[in-house]
Amino acid sequence: MIDNLEKFKKEIEEKASQITSPEALEEFRLYYLSRKGLLNDLFENLKNIDKSIKGSYGKALNDLKNFAIEIFEVKSKYISKGKTKGSMIDDYTLPGKTFNTGSKHLLTQALEDITKIFERIGFKVYEGPEIEDEYHNFDALNTPDYHPSRDMQDTFYISGKDKDKKYLLRTHTSPGQIRVMENQQPPVRVIVPGKSYRNEAISSRSLSMFHQVEGLYVDKNVTFRELKGTLDFFAKEFFGKDIKTRLRPSFFPFTEPSGEMDVECFLCKSKGCRICKYTGWLEILGCGMVDPDVFKFVNYDPEVYSGFAFGMGIERTLLIRHGIPDIRMFYENDVRFLKQF
Ligand SMILES: [Zn+2]
Repeated sequence: MIDNLEKFKKEIEEKASQITSPEALEEFRLYYLSRKGLLNDLFENLKNIDKSIKGSYGKALNDLKNFAIEIFEVKSKYISKGKTKGSMIDDYTLPGKTFNTGSKHLLTQALEDITKIFERIGFKVYEGPEIEDEYHNFDALNTPDYHPSRDMQDTFYISGKDKDKKYLLRTHTSPGQIRVMENQQPPVRVIVPGKSYRNEAISSRSLSMFHQVEGLYVDKNVTFRELKGTLDFFAKEFFGKDIKTRLRPSFFPFTEPSGEMDVECFLCKSKGCRICKYTGWLEILGCGMVDPDVFKFVNYDPEVYSGFAFGMGIERTLLIRHGIPDIRMFYENDVRFLKQF
């Protein structure tokens, strides 16, 4: 109903811009403001409006009436002075138009925040292709033929220009690591933000497209301690200075040893709740020391160089940071959701 009034307001503005003669002014008055005019009709109709919105509707209608009266008065002065051309913009006493300014999407903000945190400690940004070949997405990351993640059930395969090669939508941002190392000798310090794709059933916790940020640091004598320090620094910058973190052992084909990092649960402060499944901790990323076998694919000497890598899902991290109940909310473009960030 109130939307309707907005439409009338636009219409009034439009008509007002066309008033250039006393006749047109009178026409405007008759149409909107006279006893048989549109606004009077709307007020008459007020008794049929549903009680629940009557108050707000009535107020909006009053505002509309005042708006029309104001325009009429300004235009009257204007025309009585013999001015018939030009726009009402000459009158600086008129109320200004309000504009809704846009803002960045929550995901864009997060990607920018994360990028800035790592740039401050010397990481460069690299963006790899979203259409990858099997070699970069799996083989060079030490993920053999028989690995379950290579299954058609999990990966979107597509046909590409080279018939002997298999192409796919990258299942993670990790092939970016390989592309960087193929083209650069150590030291390497990059993050790879971007989209990844998996053939998942869509639910409140998973989508078939999501964002990741991958990190890679390779040099002489890089240690696990540096990995831990870097990730701890990141967590404190991103989630807040007081956040506690922990590393748990895990497994990934391309890192050895591998780990997962948890942050303490925001909601229950580690006491245990439904969101953290009563553990007090929330997993935010996977990480580990780059497997020496991966170095062989890019001709780095594993006797000389070592490095660490990590990767995190952005949507999932934001679900945790803001307590968002459903991952699909990121892509529904509901302004009531988006405005909160
Ligand atoms: Zn909890």
